[in-house]
Amino acid sequence: MSLATLRRRPQPNFPMTASYPDQAVAVLFSGGDAPGMNAFLRAIVRLGLNREKIAVLGVRDGYRGLVRTARAVNGDAEALIRLKNTIASHPGRAGLINDQLDLIQMDHASVSGIMGKGGTILGSARCLEFHDKEVRTKVIKLLKSLNVRALVVVGGDGSLTGARLLADESDLRIIGIPATIDNDLQFTDMALGVDTAVNTLVWAVDHFIDTARSHRRVMVLETMGRESGDLARMAGLASGAEMIITPEPGALTNVAMEKLAAKIEGAMTRGRGHAIVLVAEGVQFDPPQKRNRAYVLMDAFQQYFQRAGAPFPDLEVRPSVLGHLQRGGHTTPQDCILAARFADCAWKCIQNPDGGSGITALRKNVVEIVPYGEPDMPEREVFSQEMDRLHDDLSSW
Ligand code: ADP
Repeated sequence: MSLATLRRRPQPNFPMTASYPDQAVAVLFSGGDAPGMNAFLRAIVRLGLNREKIAVLGVRDGYRGLVRTARAVNGDAEALIRLKNTIASHPGRAGLINDQLDLIQMDHASVSGIMGKGGTILGSARCLEFHDKEVRTKVIKLLKSLNVRALVVVGGDGSLTGARLLADESDLRIIGIPATIDNDLQFTDMALGVDTAVNTLVWAVDHFIDTARSHRRVMVLETMGRESGDLARMAGLASGAEMIITPEPGALTNVAMEKLAAKIEGAMTRGRGHAIVLVAEGVQFDPPQKRNRAYVLMDAFQQYFQRAGAPFPDLEVRPSVLGHLQRGGHTTPQDCILAARFADCAWKCIQNPDGGSGITALRKNVVEIVPYGEPDMPEREVFSQEMDRLHDDLSSW
């Protein structure tokens, strides 16, 4: 069969005529981006088209895209019809490249080849206006007028708080998907993106070790993680970093920093040539400091190593704030699998006539829906403590 004939054949799931769907599920990505968001989009769209036979509307720029659209329509019936026509006549990639359109009817091709890519093709954003109840009411009205029966919100703590408010204030099904490299959501063992970020950190530590070893240096690397030290812990355990400094034990005093420096110096005395120190961004100091943690620690360590009569006055400390590097990169298979499982669970919840709103969570390797506002799992603290213990036990210091 010739290529021309193939191209003329109607393709399933690629609408040949513009018609707006009778019912749809909308999906948005909000707050800090996390690897695995694209894999999730692919999964929610493909399951929608292949299995559930329900259209999926992708929302550009998170809540901001909904707020912009609600404002543009502003309850006007004609504007709504025009919007529906524009969405229907710009499916998939045609919608994605039309940056005036915040709602895109996703098709197979629009999610092809994106699974392993970090970030999100729909864009993620922060939207301060969404804190306003009146704004949320307008968004709910817009979603209903667009035949949306469920909204899937993918993001971190803040985004899921917005989702909970939408669930409380409407009869729409609002499904939250935990996605943040910080792993600071205490109702799930893992959020989407954590595995990739840990992988990236291990890669980064490997690079820093090469130079630290060559110059016999101490490298202090600052990781993300917000108020949680788990990202640093996981990366430290997986990379063999010599020291992991986390926020959970409390603010670091000058005396505590001296003790850490003394520990490094002790290891040098026993023949160690270099050290990698991971410090989580949530670490606080007493007295408080405005500079990045890595720089504060560098000064404290350097000062200690250079005190009068110190054995290694030439021992150098170099800081590095790893920053947004940790958010990007190729999504790991583990995150792609979790994305598919979260999407599957979201659809099951949406399609369950007796189900309500909730958040997908991974617990003891089971993906399930939990209610919003679920209390912290005690297992998470046990996990953190276990990692700290293991790191100590594995240390050669
Ligand atoms: P993350 O989801 O990564 O934690 P943020 O905390 O910045 O990121 O939240 C992302 C967005 O979620 C905010 O810009 C806002 O639109 C929405 N959001 C956060 N907190 C709330 C809240 N308390 N009420 C309503 N919306 C919120």
